[in-house]
Amino acid sequence: MFSELPLHERLLKAVEELKFAEPTPVQAAAIPLALQGHDLRVTAQTGSGKTAAFVLPILNRLIGPAQRRVDIRALILLPTRELAQQTLKEVERFAQFTFLKAGLITGGEDFKVQAAMLRKVPDILIGTPGRMLEHLNAGHLELDKVEVLVFDEADRMLDMGFAEDVERLTDECPNRQQTLLFSATTGGNALREMTQKVLREPKHLLLNQVSELAEGIRQQVITADHDQHKEALIHWLVTNETFQKAIIFTNTKAWADRLYGRLVAQDIKAFVLHGDKDQKDRKAAIDRFKQGGSKVLVATDVAARGLDIEGLDLVINFDMPRSGDDYVHRVGRTGRAGGEGLAISLITHNDWNLMSSIERYLKQSFERRVIKELKGTYSGPKKVKASGKAAGTKKKKTEAKGDKKKAPAKRKPASKPKSELVSQDGLAPLKKRKAPAAE
Ligand code: AMP
Repeated sequence: MFSELPLHERLLKAVEELKFAEPTPVQAAAIPLALQGHDLRVTAQTGSGKTAAFVLPILNRLIGPAQRRVDIRALILLPTRELAQQTLKEVERFAQFTFLKAGLITGGEDFKVQAAMLRKVPDILIGTPGRMLEHLNAGHLELDKVEVLVFDEADRMLDMGFAEDVERLTDECPNRQQTLLFSATTGGNALREMTQKVLREPKHLLLNQVSELAEGIRQQVITADHDQHKEALIHWLVTNETFQKAIIFTNTKAWADRLYGRLVAQDIKAFVLHGDKDQKDRKAAIDRFKQGGSKVLVATDVAARGLDIEGLDLVINFDMPRSGDDYVHRVGRTGRAGGEGLAISLITHNDWNLMSSIERYLKQSFERRVIKELKGTYSGPKKVKASGKAAGTKKKKTEAKGDKKKAPAKRKPASKPKSELVSQDGLAPLKKRKAPAAE
């Protein structure tokens, strides 16, 4: 019961008004610890009730009599406008019986209007890092009185290339007494580094995770307009992603050679592995890759089966593999022996249906990721069928006859069925659980 939590009566009144009967698991776990003042590192998905898990403790800390507002006392950073707007609404709902005010700063809104809002100094500021930093640079923001700093969907903020902005904003809050970091997944090296930097003796709460192929592997897709766009994405990922070793998979030898040539021309040391290479060369490439002679291996599926490479934490599918099993074999090269890994598939409109078949086969929904600097025009079909495939795309005659690309829908699922996943976070049934939205 919420009433058992040591929350201010005005907040309990709001909770009652909202007809929240029981705290969700993430709220039950996080609220008491946050109220005690601990830093928290929480893994919980959107839809688990995590917003209230940080909003209520913040309001409880800041609540007091009406007075002139002089300082921003809480800062909530999140990756997207939609999430920021949603969070503002949640704050306003919980703060309805208090004198606390919240403000919103996101891209796509009028800069001057935002500056005017900042002059009135909200108690709680919510927003995305890019625009927030612009206001800081323009001298509109003072954050040195911030008492609580929250990162929501921190993994996604890092994925979207906000690492530097987030670090800069964090440095602007040197007097904070509490930092709360939420993410939907356990994340990779970058998130681990961030956790170490920003949190002080945090309590770790692992509430529910995105379903995984193997424990610890995150699976993402990035949409691309065409093959050249994919090449640019590969270059970005290889130079910006934090990883120890990466394999880039292609479906053809020609593309493996081409990508390898590109990387080398861009001064990125790489090896290439495919069926046209003789056994000696293949073995030499694998050995040197294992020894760390290069961080990047470009390969066709030849390399997918059975390879166990220590420290391999990134798999990129330049092409989507032709079946769910091939996908599992490729992606299973990472996250071995309980390690963490990241699998990224690059998807043009030609790959979409194959990707959605593989999602269904695995009974998983891949995270949608956008690289800000390389955002293209294609972000998925305009309409999708219930199966997730593009609506209104006719099969070509040749495909209809002997469609080898079909994913093996009848085979045994490689991971937990969705019904189990849905019940993991205790909010049953979940309000329409969506795959992480494309930005
Ligand atoms: P969130 O994961 O914070 O985005 O929350 C998902 C949805 O669940 C939101 O619409 C919340 O208002 C709602 N919600 C959060 N906590 C509770 C609760 N304890 N009881 C009922 N609904 C809740």
